[in-house]
Amino acid sequence: MAYLDYNATSPLRAEAKVAAERAFALGGNASSVHASGRAARALIEEARQNVAALGGARAEEVIFTSGATESNALALWGAVMGSLEARDAAKDATARITRLFVSAIEHPAVLENAKAVAERFAGLRLEFIPVRTNGVVDLDALKDLLREGKGRALVALMAANNETGVVQPVDEVLTLVRAEGALLLVDAVQAAGKIALPAADYLTLSAHKLGGLQGAGALIVRTGIPYAPLITGGGQERGARAGTENLAGIAAFGAAATAAAQENVTPVLRDRFEAGLRKIAQEVTIFGVESLRLPNTSNFSLAPIPAETALMALDLDGVMLSSGAACSSGKVKRSHVLAAMGISEDVGACALRASFGWNSTEADVDAALSSISKLVARRRAAA
Ligand code: PLP
Repeated sequence: MAYLDYNATSPLRAEAKVAAERAFALGGNASSVHASGRAARALIEEARQNVAALGGARAEEVIFTSGATESNALALWGAVMGSLEARDAAKDATARITRLFVSAIEHPAVLENAKAVAERFAGLRLEFIPVRTNGVVDLDALKDLLREGKGRALVALMAANNETGVVQPVDEVLTLVRAEGALLLVDAVQAAGKIALPAADYLTLSAHKLGGLQGAGALIVRTGIPYAPLITGGGQERGARAGTENLAGIAAFGAAATAAAQENVTPVLRDRFEAGLRKIAQEVTIFGVESLRLPNTSNFSLAPIPAETALMALDLDGVMLSSGAACSSGKVKRSHVLAAMGISEDVGACALRASFGWNSTEADVDAALSSISKLVARRRAAA
């Protein structure tokens, strides 16, 4: 078996498994005042320190969630609602977020929530920031958006794209955003542990992409930044997100965050893979290759071989890749990321993604290349 789909989910790291098992053995509700509750609280606070360190934040700025989908939803809804509260408290109309600028290549967790928030609040304008053909957000377009019109803006730009791995200029965007008095949400799900993260106002993380458990994530909201809770109840997470904490998920997240932060992820496996691909099929298209990319991600097309055909053939050989844009039904759908980069539908429909992680080996790369080589040879013979 060769698992090359770390951007979908990472196998559990040994450190995270140990931490989860510790939490299972402990049990306890972190809100209880007795010894078991205090022990659970200690695990959560230790994990909070570790996740804060990965996100370049203070522990009290970390809100644990059920994953990055929830984190992104909380950030968008919480920012807009928090800005309304800030407006009312300060009797200052300019505190309200009235413009939402979202990059066209965001994950659906951002795109769909941005659309829903804009529909819900009259007077909130949503605009999509285009990307260039190299997969990098168009900074001139963002500058124009920020400068035209009045009202506080919230910009959403991911640190690196989950399909292409293209790294986005989040630091430059942060400078622009600061100059305009706007706010910045950075989805750092794929970038965390691989590249430096910006000091964005809102930053989102997912445990299972780092080698933790599925169902845990974090939203980092910097001190003093508008935020109103969406989920209220027992007051957990300092009132920012109620609900009894996912003790094992959070403990494993903390351990995975520390392990990921200490790792030096290099592009060695990705480069070996892409060199092999070029030998097998000179006609291969590698998306975003001219841009700075995450060291672990390769998004490519073997057109005219459809992605679905390729995925099934590779799967039969025990090689697990992704189409880059699998929807929940498991069917391959058109990638909005490649569409935004101006990639034709024909080529986009053949897009595959290989992504590497903490347990990937050269043998995994070679197994994938050997399976792809057989597939390409069969296709050529058939043609
Ligand atoms: N954001 C990005 C960039 C992602 O790649 C993903 C997962 O694929 C998510 C958000 C959602 O994360 P989660 O699975 O923790 O809800």
